[in-house]
Amino acid sequence: MQLTKTNFIQYLSCPESLWLLKNKENEYPFGEFSLFQEKLRNEGFEVEHYAQLLFPDGLRLDEYIAPTATKKELDKGLKFYFQPSFETSRGGYAVIDILERSDNNTWHIYEIKSSTSIKTDSKHNQIKDACFQKYVMTEAGYTVSKVSIINLNKGYIKNGDINPSELLEIVDITNEVNQIYSETVNEINTAFNFLKKDISIDRCSCIEKTRSNHCDAFNYFNSEIDEHNIYELNRISVKKIKELRELGVSKIKDIPDNYNLTAKQQLQLVSNQKEEAVYDLKEIKNTLSELKFPLHFIDYETFPTAVPKIDGLSPHEQLTFQVSIHTLLSDGTLKHYEYLSDSLELPKKLIEYMESITGLTGTFVSWHASFEKGRNDDMMRLFPEHKPYLDFMNTNMFDLETIFTQYYVDYRFLGKTSIKNVLPVLVPELSYKVLNVQNGTEALDTWGRLVLEPEKIEDKESVRKDLLEYCKLDTLAMVKIYEKLIAL
Ligand code: SF4
Repeated sequence: MQLTKTNFIQYLSCPESLWLLKNKENEYPFGEFSLFQEKLRNEGFEVEHYAQLLFPDGLRLDEYIAPTATKKELDKGLKFYFQPSFETSRGGYAVIDILERSDNNTWHIYEIKSSTSIKTDSKHNQIKDACFQKYVMTEAGYTVSKVSIINLNKGYIKNGDINPSELLEIVDITNEVNQIYSETVNEINTAFNFLKKDISIDRCSCIEKTRSNHCDAFNYFNSEIDEHNIYELNRISVKKIKELRELGVSKIKDIPDNYNLTAKQQLQLVSNQKEEAVYDLKEIKNTLSELKFPLHFIDYETFPTAVPKIDGLSPHEQLTFQVSIHTLLSDGTLKHYEYLSDSLELPKKLIEYMESITGLTGTFVSWHASFEKGRNDDMMRLFPEHKPYLDFMNTNMFDLETIFTQYYVDYRFLGKTSIKNVLPVLVPELSYKVLNVQNGTEALDTWGRLVLEPEKIEDKESVRKDLLEYCKLDTLAMVKIYEKLIAL
């Protein structure tokens, strides 16, 4: 059975899910290969392209070159190779991003990452990942004397042509890899043994963990867990999950009335039992009465890229390219304003447009306001002359989502408070499903293609219209939800 570094990291995070993938691939819930994943993959290729430019003498081997063919190439004695592959007798398999022959005929592994720092969390442990590569090469009979990670330089700001040695940084992680090498080899051996076991898994360990730990395979392994379950409870602890399971409770509505819950969890219980919305009317009215008219319901669309595309931006910095504003006056008049950049450019015109529409008036209303506030902070850095306006916007920004995180619960939200969960319940007549662009990832992907590859888009006007419709619905949805709340 073949084991790659990606498999190994998956094993460390969840042995059961890798066991299912390797032993019952047809039953593995892969989920859709999303646009977001495709974007990440393409960005990885782009970073790799710049990393390879650091080694102009490197030999690019054929994609998917076999380890036996790699060996023949290495025997030719060159210094740098791109994408050589190696395997162990047990099935360990590694493709090394860049490999350097050192003077004493040992080898230096370079792993390329699109991040701006070295990640060591359980789901993305880049040291373990590099350690796995060293293990495979070592087992295949090569001596690895050095391991490095090439990642994006957080402090880089694009200014003219990209110089790879400024865009990227090479971090020597040899010591870190050596420190965990023996422990990692033990883990790899345990992984091989575990994957070969003939086990029947009809329940996985996430049955006693919070929802943030669950992967796509949760329902496969725990088929008795249905919607409206205890994992939907706001901030439920592992202790409570275990207690409730010991009481034989898996649905929220079955939680005993005397069970100790937080105020928000209690609202969820009542909503699930009554199968209706439960809310604190006084708090909602008080909160909304503090908003000053005109109310500017605002939403940005942004385009982040690993490698910055225009001068002034850093790796992964969000470029705000679109805004929709619905302005509601105190007499009930509603007006809509929108701006969509037609090219890759810094958002100066967008800021000027917003300022000309709203001025320093009223309250800005957004959903999950930390995102809009963060983009305003980015724009202040780029255009300090607009700081007074953007500061005003941030100081007078109200997050409509807080009503749903604090005072309004409906069991049909499934324990979530995103606008995509709230809107279909409160305003079912408004739907994203009828749109050609249905979420933020599709919006940024569509806009990226519109400005980067316009020649490939036949009907630019209709694509532009799709983008405007999507962003417009985001702010109209907030207006309609606000009106429902006011009418309670
Ligand atoms: S739900 Fe958790 S334990 Fe179950 S397969 Fe997924 S990650 Fe593993």
